[in-house]
Order: sequence, then C-alpha cells, then structure tokens
Amino acid sequence: MRLPRSFPKKPICFIAGIAFGAWMSSPGDTQGTWNGFGLVGAAYAQESDVEVSPTMVRDRHRDVYYPNSEDLAEDEMRVIACGTGMPTTRAAQAAACFLVELGNGDKFLFDIGSGSAERISSLQIPYNYLNKVFIGHLHTDHFGALHDLFIGGALMGRNVPLRVWGPSGPAPELGTAYALEHMQKMLTWDLAGRAGNVDFRGYSMEVNEFDYKLENEPVYEENGVIIRTFPAIHSIDGAVSYSLEWNDLKFVFSSDTYPNKWFKEYAKDADIAIHECFIAVPDLVNKMKFTPESALLVGT
Ligand SMILES: [Zn+2]
Repeated sequence: MRLPRSFPKKPICFIAGIAFGAWMSSPGDTQGTWNGFGLVGAAYAQESDVEVSPTMVRDRHRDVYYPNSEDLAEDEMRVIACGTGMPTTRAAQAAACFLVELGNGDKFLFDIGSGSAERISSLQIPYNYLNKVFIGHLHTDHFGALHDLFIGGALMGRNVPLRVWGPSGPAPELGTAYALEHMQKMLTWDLAGRAGNVDFRGYSMEVNEFDYKLENEPVYEENGVIIRTFPAIHSIDGAVSYSLEWNDLKFVFSSDTYPNKWFKEYAKDADIAIHECFIAVPDLVNKMKFTPESALLVGT
C-alpha cells in the first residue's frame, strides 16, 4: 500500500501489502493471466502489444505488491505486513512484523516476531537498509526473529550495527536492554564461531531503551522522520505503541494492546493505523475454557 501525500486524512485500520498472496486477474485484464500454477509470462508477453522489459518496472494498475516490482516515489510511504500472526507461527503466517518504507530511502521494522525474518528476506532488500527495529513489547511473537535478523542480516551483507528501540519495564530485567544483552550472550557460541571469518561490523547492536511510560514523546528523530511512543495496555507494564511521522504522513502501530485512550488520541489523525485484534475475552472463556482471569490477561 502506497500512500501519496494527498492521501485522505482519516484513521483506517489496515493490513497492508500482501507480499505472498496469490495474484489473480479478472477476465479481460490485459496485465496477465493466472493458470492455477503461475503467471503465463513469456508466451503472453510475446502476444501482447504492451512493451515489457526484464529489468524495468512497468507503470500499471495493480492490486497487490510483489517484491521489487514497484518503485517508491519520493513522497510516498509503503507499508508491508511481513507478519500478522501468533506465537505459534505457521508456514503461511509469521508473527507480528511491519515494514515501513519511505520515499527518502529510510526503512523501519515495527516488531519482528517469530518467523518474520523469512518474510523480510523474501523482499530482497539489502540488509544495510534494514538496520532499524522498533519493538512494542518483549513477547516472542513481537521480537522472536530479532536474532535471525541480527545474525542473518550481518551474514548477508549488513556492515553497520543493528539499531533496536524498545521499552523499559517495571523492573530492569523486564526491559529491552536486559533482553537484548542476554540475547547476545545466548549467541556467544554462534559469534565465536564466526570470529575471523566474517566482517564483524554488522555483528553489533545499538540498543535504545526508553521509558515505557512516555506519552507521545519522540524516541527517534532523524532525516525528517519522527517516531513517538505511547503506552499500550497488554499483559504487564512495559508494552508500547508507536507512531511515525514523515512528509505530512502518519503511520501508527499498536503492537499488542487493549483499546485505550492513548491509541484513540494519537491515531485519530493517522493515514494508516494498525491495531492488533485477538480472540474476544468471552470466547476465550466459553469456547477455549480459559478462566476469566487468564482470559483477561491473554485476551488483552
Ligand atoms: Zn503480546
């Protein structure tokens, strides 16, 4: 989903950019055909009057986005859902991860849940561009693929530190800095085995922990981009939501949260607002046999 500058200013909930969806054309569509196994490409191109190129993106109407198939204009924002799922990832659905690409060349990952590294990799974006990650909270379905991006990204060419932002917690050991310090300790054997064999510039991490109680305060201000944080209501203290503002465009990402006054306030003027949804608390109790207490904890 691209957002031109003139995109109407109204909040919408949206799951954007299906990177792995099946593409289908309508009868009479001149763009291509779907034969159930793949696009009928070369043969169709030979019969078409439309000029095609093996290298240049064609200016055409499209309903879905395929990696590297669409230029991003200078004033546009593109949001790609790399994951929208649960802690138990599936082949068809990674856990939470949204990539925001800006026309100025900046790219940001919001959450990087389990399984999402594969989706990120599929986009074929050079890893030096994917060095900024904003974590909403420390559930694995929101940061469980960070070590994959940390190691795999460096292995595949990132030669700058991986920069990570995330909230503090109600105690030091419940904060982002603690989690990522110990994640890097977990990788001691992995890193030791690479020493001397690889460019180590990419195997470092810049961790930016901020107070989870900040309300609409900036935690990132670079290159005309402002990213703010505000509290989320989820599980225990230490969960946050984010907004990103650039070029008069605003993206808001809830990560996991119960609907709350902060989201309502800071998402109301967003061009795109992404809010989590989950099984309703009554259904957790009645259909899945959670206790009411557990349902409230899990479902909010
Ligand atoms: Zn969560």
